[in-house]
Amino acid sequence: MQDLIDRAAHDIAAARRAVALTGAGISTESGIPPFRGPGGLWEKIDPMEVAHIDAFRRDPEKVWNLLIRGMHEVLVKSRPNMAHRGLAALEDMGRLQTVITQNVDGLHQQAGSRDVIEFHGSFAWQRCTVCERRCRTAELDLAVIPPRCECGGIFRPDCVFFGEMIPPAHLARSQQLAAGCQVMLVVGTSATVQPAAMLPLLARDAGARVIEINPEPTPLTGTVSDYLIPGPAARVVDALAAAVSALQETA
Ligand code: NAD
Ligand code: ZN
Repeated sequence: MQDLIDRAAHDIAAARRAVALTGAGISTESGIPPFRGPGGLWEKIDPMEVAHIDAFRRDPEKVWNLLIRGMHEVLVKSRPNMAHRGLAALEDMGRLQTVITQNVDGLHQQAGSRDVIEFHGSFAWQRCTVCERRCRTAELDLAVIPPRCECGGIFRPDCVFFGEMIPPAHLARSQQLAAGCQVMLVVGTSATVQPAAMLPLLARDAGARVIEINPEPTPLTGTVSDYLIPGPAARVVDALAAAVSALQETA
């Protein structure tokens, strides 16, 4: 595996602009279960039952009880791992421009990444479904579910549910970055949720190297990505940041 890490380090060092696309897999080693795959939430519940905007509109109390409350309990305790830190280190070295993340856990920012596009929004904030007032998730009173705003409206996380649009500014900037980068690191995502999943295709079509970091192959492997570094994100990204740093020192 070290030869693949060295290859990726050379690709990153040679690139004018590298960007990363991350998914739930980068945060599993921080104790946050992914949706799909072993231990994933979808083994227990149907996504369309709970994470679709229509389900929330139909029965917000059920979605709060089945999904949002549990996510809150997990996310407040989670801390960044070496993969989040490794991407932040690559940004510090001037080697990684932006992290485009599908995650809503805020761990990239906690690890020190500064340019982060939260493609699917953020769980750190809630907004009232009636008056749009925002409040920090950490400050919510969860004694009564669903939690309500002073105006009586129900709060919802400031995340993108299935069936909702990506905030247009996030989508536009992500597409621009994908089409303009020379390297895209695709870390811990099965690349099956659209439109995030098309970003590696945009990058590849514009001539970028697409490098996957994932213990499992994905639909991109062997078709869209140039190569897969098969391993857990924390170990691989940490080693990759060290290898890029070593290259910089010898340059
Ligand atoms: P996904 O489609 O991105 O699948 C998870 C991927 O991570 C799989 O390919 C799996 O092989 C890989 N993986 C597992 N452990 C890994 C590790 N240690 N290192 C690297 N890769 C690893 O994600 P999903 O779970 O299907 O989620 C779909 C949507 O829900 C996405 O928007 C996702 O970001 C969001 N979600 C976010 C969080 C979070 O904020 N942490 C958690 C669950 C789901
Ligand atoms: Zn309100």
